Amino acid sequence: MYDVAIIGAGASGLMCSCALKIKNNNLKVLLLEKNDKIGKKLLITGNGRCNLGNYNTNISNYNSNSNISRFKQYLDIKKYLDEKNNSIPSYIDYENYIEYLKYIGIVIKQEDKRLYPYSNQAICVCKVFERYLNYLHVDIRYNYDVNKIDKKNDIFYINDDIKAKSVVIATGGKSYPKTGSTGTGYEILRKFGHKIEKIYPALTYLKTDYKYIKDISGVRYDAVVNLSVNGEVKNTEKGQIQFTKDSVSGICVFNLSRNVKKYLEEKKKVTLIVNLVPNYSEPQIEEYIKSFKDYKIQDALSGIINNKLANAISKQLKVHDKLVKQISKDQIKIVAYTIHNMHFNITQTGDFNNAQVTTGGACLDEFTDNLESKKCKGLYAIGEVLDIDGKCGGYNLSWAFTSALIVKDSILKV
Ligand SMILES: Cc1cc2nc3c(=O)[nH]c(=O)nc-3n(C[C@H](O)[C@H](O)[C@H](O)COP(=O)(O)OP(=O)(O)OC[C@H]3O[C@@H](n4cnc5c(N)ncnc54)[C@H](O)[C@@H]3O)c2cc1C
Repeated sequence: MYDVAIIGAGASGLMCSCALKIKNNNLKVLLLEKNDKIGKKLLITGNGRCNLGNYNTNISNYNSNSNISRFKQYLDIKKYLDEKNNSIPSYIDYENYIEYLKYIGIVIKQEDKRLYPYSNQAICVCKVFERYLNYLHVDIRYNYDVNKIDKKNDIFYINDDIKAKSVVIATGGKSYPKTGSTGTGYEILRKFGHKIEKIYPALTYLKTDYKYIKDISGVRYDAVVNLSVNGEVKNTEKGQIQFTKDSVSGICVFNLSRNVKKYLEEKKKVTLIVNLVPNYSEPQIEEYIKSFKDYKIQDALSGIINNKLANAISKQLKVHDKLVKQISKDQIKIVAYTIHNMHFNITQTGDFNNAQVTTGGACLDEFTDNLESKKCKGLYAIGEVLDIDGKCGGYNLSWAFTSALIVKDSILKV
């Protein structure tokens, strides 16, 4: 019989197994993974570089249907990074996941506010985990797909095969199912009476029916982007927006994508409103255009915005090929307004195959502060299977690792 069985060898399951064994090496820990290797999703994070955290990590970067303020203290790693970034942790004072990562051999570096492994390689992160799990004698079973967990007389039975005193569900969400995260954790938790908040793909592209989208395909542009729902601006992001033949993408769009599928299901009108030149006011843009009165409008605009965007906007406003001096003052006003407010009607989002995370999941209100189920003693859930998701920039791995540490002390009390 195992003391703890952890289902899923992704970011959260790997961290949880290490943390338990670091604290108590006598604990019998079993890690069950349906793939033939650990960390299949971890390997592709951060474009293969593994953006494993963010200097700005705090509760405001997360989304949930539940109140998540009780996890606030765990997610504030800024203070730690300021004070201890260059120190080597001693064996007893691990406060957060960064210290654990360092302890097992993953040296961290900061790029802007993002944290990466010094090796710049997600594969190195997986290898370090693998080595450390070996060193700690964590039992791992690969190609083991958990589809059934029962509890009888305080003992968990996994697939009628394995016995454990505690079980940690670390099966991830439903995004990128080819990495193994197919959503089975939701079914397991549902059978124990847990409420699963409706899940949606998040951190994904948004499809648009903008008439000239093909013309601007390939353009990447720094902009301020507003998400408007039924005419009300819900969120604003600043950063690079990218256009493809039928969609808008880029980190700022990913961050705005989180509730879009839900809004569309509710038949709400979703629009991305893009300010292409946030550093200049509309009157300044008007003056700029007017100073090139002998130019075609798209050529005048090309001095201030991307050439493809200049062409698309002038076509959209039916002033393409006209000289600036042939256009009325009101029309110039509209051009300047459009440069500040380019509208993209949103028709669809990427699906789970294209979404970096799942929003929704196991309702957090049904778990204690230690992430133990309130429905079933000894059952825990960590990582993306829970109803909490972060923005792009290292916040989701931060949660996966942090939640793994939250459960360890509770399990060790058993
Ligand atoms: C392309 C991409 C890039 C990303 N980049 C970043 C990034 O740079 N920074 C960041 O913070 N976040 C990033 N994310 C999000 C981040 O990877 C996830 O939020 C995080 O991996 C979730 O960790 P987890 O342990 O909860 O689940 P996962 O990492 O999904 O691991 C779950 C594991 O459980 C296994 N499993 C599932 N069901 C069963 C079962 N029934 N039996 C046995 N095993 C099972 C799966 O095979 C899998 O190995 C990215 C995601 C994607 C898809």
